[in-house]
Amino acid sequence: MVSKDRISKILDSYDPKKITLATACSHTSLQIFHGAKEAGFKTLGIAVQQKTKIYDAFPAAKPDEFLFADSYSELLDHTDELISRNVIVIPHGSFVEYMTPRIFEGWGIPTFGNRMVLEWESDREKERNWITSAGVRMPEIIEDAQKIDRPVLVKYHGAKGGRGFFIAKDYPEFKMGIDHTKKFHIQEYVVGTRYYVHFFYSPIRTEGYRLSKGVLEVLSADRRDESNIDEMYKLGSAEELKRLGFFPSFVVTGNLPIVMRESLLPKFFEIGEKIVERSFKLFGGIIGPFCVESIVTDNLDIVVFEVSARIVAGTNPFINGSPYSDYIEPGLSTGKRIAQEIKLAVKKGLMNEVIS
Ligand code: AMP
Repeated sequence: MVSKDRISKILDSYDPKKITLATACSHTSLQIFHGAKEAGFKTLGIAVQQKTKIYDAFPAAKPDEFLFADSYSELLDHTDELISRNVIVIPHGSFVEYMTPRIFEGWGIPTFGNRMVLEWESDREKERNWITSAGVRMPEIIEDAQKIDRPVLVKYHGAKGGRGFFIAKDYPEFKMGIDHTKKFHIQEYVVGTRYYVHFFYSPIRTEGYRLSKGVLEVLSADRRDESNIDEMYKLGSAEELKRLGFFPSFVVTGNLPIVMRESLLPKFFEIGEKIVERSFKLFGGIIGPFCVESIVTDNLDIVVFEVSARIVAGTNPFINGSPYSDYIEPGLSTGKRIAQEIKLAVKKGLMNEVIS
């Protein structure tokens, strides 16, 4: 892990008027560049083995310049050049995944948010410890497969994008499906509606939904479109499909805007608050955007199956604001909110609070 001290010294050397916001050219990059430009920052697109013509199609979201590289690890060789350009990197899901959390956390370049979160988020057991010790309900873990007494989701470790999960309704079904050569865990399958709520925690704002320090905002919410589970019911019952060799998968292909019933909002704020307050104690705080990925049951209980600790692709439908962020400021996207936070930190001389 790169030290806070080193990043702090680099930030001291930056010219506040020449700061450039950079991110990798995928995932939420259009929104991040668009927001950064609107806030008056210079922008840099990091293109790893990518063509960049797509940005010509969207001029308001096209970065001012590009940095081309053949691999994510090659970016480490460009560290000095990036520092000389006063670059602050905005991490997103694909950026961290492609670079790998291990390399990302050691990269000596100022990065928006708290890198310490990577350790707590990339390890499912540590993440569970964080969320449950905050007093937030997660799906139950079933330790002994022979005791499966309700539908479960078997998750292989390291499974990406929901590929490599399978559903079992009892022990025989589990036995038929399981691949014992891989590590896995068994989780209660929570039945309900899936809501992915996009929060933003600011340690430096003072007005709003206050926590013990700073303020918590809800900027938007989405539901993921997942292939093939979301549509496969049209072909027949799960049993029939299994016989034909079709198994459900949870691969994200898009995102739909969600507005939840208003009485759920205070409950989600309480959950967000608990997660942030606990993160202060465990690793110094989850800074900036994060997403609470949850299932709301028909009792209106909220069960959180994951927390993503940075901007998620589910924020992409809201580049012109959402039915929540519009009550904070019309037209506010998560990308724009990130740029605002950096601008405020520069103005108040508090960059060390939001950049690591
Ligand atoms: P994840 O990789 O943990 O984000 O999960 C991928 C997808 O699997 C989610 O978007 C949900 O559709 C589904 N999922 C994950 N955990 C559960 C659960 N405990 N109960 C029901 N569905 C789940």
